[in-house]
Amino acid sequence: MKTIAEGRDVQREKAYAWERVVLHRLETNKKLTTPEIQRLAHRVVITYQMPSLIHVARVTHNRGHALANHTIQLPDFAHTKVYALHELAHSVQSLYEGRWSVMAGHGPEWLRTFIELLNRYKVMSKRELLRSARHYGLKVASPKAMPAGPRPHSNRAYEP
Ligand SMILES: [Zn+2]
Repeated sequence: MKTIAEGRDVQREKAYAWERVVLHRLETNKKLTTPEIQRLAHRVVITYQMPSLIHVARVTHNRGHALANHTIQLPDFAHTKVYALHELAHSVQSLYEGRWSVMAGHGPEWLRTFIELLNRYKVMSKRELLRSARHYGLKVASPKAMPAGPRPHSNRAYEP
């Protein structure tokens, strides 16, 4: 996702590399249809009490992309759980306008959200995700460092 803070999005390439090497090859990274990703997006909207629905659009022209908090665009190759959750983490991030908008697109707060989603939707356990991300030199925000705003209400998503 492109953000106004892109120039300071210092761990973007590292996050992409971690995703590519560690996450994309997992058996739990299932291929999903557009309607399945749409259902996943609805679950995320409800869990995070988001102010609007997220529309999932299949596109042919680019890589995955989140537009504000309303739409995620996914080309066919990105119809997988990991790609979808990557973009949905950007959608959650956009909830915290003001605070989030000065944060890096793939910074520690985004990564915390991505990891919470990967854990919640059973791609990998949170403990393994945190260990692996740190092993790759990625910074993950602590739960206490997450910005104020809507929180997932159905379980303990922001545990350390
Ligand atoms: Zn991204």
